[in-house]
Amino acid sequence: MTQDCGTPLEAAADIIAGSSCLLAFTGAGVSADSGLPTFRGEGGLWGRYDERHLEIDHFREHPAECWETIRAIFYGTGAGFQPNDAHRVLAGWERDGILDFLVTQNIDGLHGQAGSRAVAEFHGSCSTLRCMRCGTAVEATAARIAASPPCCACGGVFKPGFTFFGEAIPERAREESFAAAGRADACIVIGSTGTVQPAASVPRLVKSHGGAVVEVNPEPSEFTRSITDVFLPMGAAEALRTLDVLVRGRLGK
Ligand SMILES: [Zn+2]
Repeated sequence: MTQDCGTPLEAAADIIAGSSCLLAFTGAGVSADSGLPTFRGEGGLWGRYDERHLEIDHFREHPAECWETIRAIFYGTGAGFQPNDAHRVLAGWERDGILDFLVTQNIDGLHGQAGSRAVAEFHGSCSTLRCMRCGTAVEATAARIAASPPCCACGGVFKPGFTFFGEAIPERAREESFAAAGRADACIVIGSTGTVQPAASVPRLVKSHGGAVVEVNPEPSEFTRSITDVFLPMGAAEALRTLDVLVRGRLGK
């Protein structure tokens, strides 16, 4: 790691302010400050729900049963989360020409809610539903979600618009993500531990053609040991609030 110019926060701000094409890559840690529960680890959702309910083959055979879990996790009392300062800073960076593109592994739609537009949702989003029979995509409204299981006018079952276990990554999001990584000269990784492939290859591509990597994670990750130039051991919202001030100070924005 190269942290020889001032504090790590200042070194990170130098990289971000000095880049001409910045990519942000976010994972569950960026939404943790909005209160979203994680899937794995202590207190994770898989301690309470059956992981098979998000496997595509199981869903095809038992859609109503799977929808009970899907509704509870993604559209039930847990819904209604709001963007936090990390989402807001990234949206502001895009608006002011500091950030070129954002790749997220999250399916919560919070980057879009915060105002980000140049976003690839690598694992899809829960804000849409797609018919398993005819492919029609519709907005995931409360009325549609209430049916058990939600069904299309054609009689097919609706599936949430995010990637299930055993399903391929949405092709367009994948292409946009790797294209953005191919042109980026710096990447800020936020709240992703780099264990889920192929998503974790996105920041690695930036590094492979000489780009610098800033990483924001509470604990060291797969990235820290391999591609990170500046590691900020912090929560996402706190780190982004501080970086926002430092970067804007350097750019006069
Ligand atoms: Zn249909």
